[in-house]
Amino acid sequence: MSQFDVVILGGGSGGYACALRSSQLGLRAALIEENKLGGTCLHRGCIPTKALLHAGEVADSSRHSSDFGVNTQFIGIDMLAVNAYKDGVVSKLHKGLQGLVKSRNVTYIEGHGRLVSKNEVEVNGVNYTGKNIVLATGSYPKTLPGLDIDGTQIITSEQAISMDRVPKSVIVLGGGVIGCEFASVWKSFGAEVTIIEGLPHLIALEDESSSKGLERAFRKRGINFELGTRFKSASKDAKGVTVTLEDGKTFTAEVLLVAVGRGPVSANLGYEEAGLTMDRGYVIVDNKCRTNVPGIWAVGDLIPTLQLAHVGFGEGILVAEEIGGLNPRPINYDGVPRVTYSEPEVASVGLTTAQAKERGHDVVELNYDLAGNGKAQILKTAGAIKLVAAKNGPVLGIHMVGARVGELLAEAQLIFNWEAEASDVASLIHAHPTLSEAVGEAHLALAGKPLHAHG
Ligand SMILES: Cc1cc2nc3c(=O)[nH]c(=O)nc-3n(C[C@H](O)[C@H](O)[C@H](O)COP(=O)(O)OP(=O)(O)OC[C@H]3O[C@@H](n4cnc5c(N)ncnc54)[C@H](O)[C@@H]3O)c2cc1C
Repeated sequence: MSQFDVVILGGGSGGYACALRSSQLGLRAALIEENKLGGTCLHRGCIPTKALLHAGEVADSSRHSSDFGVNTQFIGIDMLAVNAYKDGVVSKLHKGLQGLVKSRNVTYIEGHGRLVSKNEVEVNGVNYTGKNIVLATGSYPKTLPGLDIDGTQIITSEQAISMDRVPKSVIVLGGGVIGCEFASVWKSFGAEVTIIEGLPHLIALEDESSSKGLERAFRKRGINFELGTRFKSASKDAKGVTVTLEDGKTFTAEVLLVAVGRGPVSANLGYEEAGLTMDRGYVIVDNKCRTNVPGIWAVGDLIPTLQLAHVGFGEGILVAEEIGGLNPRPINYDGVPRVTYSEPEVASVGLTTAQAKERGHDVVELNYDLAGNGKAQILKTAGAIKLVAAKNGPVLGIHMVGARVGELLAEAQLIFNWEAEASDVASLIHAHPTLSEAVGEAHLALAGKPLHAHG
């Protein structure tokens, strides 16, 4: 059978979520994937990097165990064993996902697909026809003009996730989420790390207070960074890679990781020929992920929304439900939780102070230092929770820095998305001693009745 209700091109987070939800709604779905089901997130992104970060956390725990009265000796990192652990996690999830797709009766088609008309995708000479076509071809790691990725000395995240050794020294070009996560891993593994970022701050899309909190913590961990100066050139020799910045400063390291962002995979796939509106390679969609060509939809990293796996899931589900006639609500992208899984973690939802002001809110802010939180002291982590709120109105943004704060987003996103006011949250009792208590304490303070905080 090559006639479907939905033909989905790309089996990553966006594509497979759309396939699973489509079949749940009784739609006949085909999912086309040329590489591995699960895409970037499962095989080259979220999951392997978080496994590496966890191995880094274990390394740091063993290094610092005597701070807790436990005597161990940190001997070193066995990258083959780290990779075996990481690959084991990926492989288990991959098998689970393959089983899930099969059990939902999604027709899985292996091969390179190309859009050949507004309702057909061709794979290996066979045309698959869909009443709807969903494009979900994802993204690739970008580089800069004149900076050639050789895969050994100058690499991207694609090679960085499966290195067979810990480099002695690394330059990370780009202080965004991916750059900061790898910087954190390599530092934990014992490398000397320098981040080069052209913008004035690390993770510059976050609230400035979070960037500063991460910079403070990285400085303390001995992660070097150079901010506000742009990359000029790189040269290689047998000893390593030398990077020169526009101000003339140079840095040399064994490996250069290029983490300057990801671009959409959309070239030579028939998208332009189908008449799709595109911008710098991204497919442009409306708030229901509809392209300008009726019956063609696009989701995930291919469209210019937040490049996050859970955004891909959300968009895939949205499209399936729209096709299934459920008329779902468009996604409020402000309400999407964001995490940088470095040590310490940075987590946020909602607006930064700058964004809230730009949108005309009369803003009040509250900064709750984790020094006042029992569990943070037990974990020996530093950081803060910052609330951005409208004066006499709802909480507009929650910005957190500290170990494990990513786990606090579950509550933070409810607070933001349900437009809670500080007093609503202040009336909820939080378990003691947990890190989540800090969320409660911050709202108590903002509501004018601080408990374990001055003010
Ligand atoms: C190092 C790294 C760490 C990350 N960490 C996180 C994280 O912790 N949390 C998070 O939320 N996000 C994270 N991300 C981002 C996340 O991986 C992406 O946002 C997500 O994978 C996007 O999903 P997608 O479906 O749009 O694209 P992808 O996952 O890239 O999937 C696209 C799929 O389409 C296939 N494809 C492309 N062209 C064709 C074709 N012509 N024919 C057939 N198949 C095709 C590809 O093989 C691929 O499998 C990370 C990314 C990286 C690189």
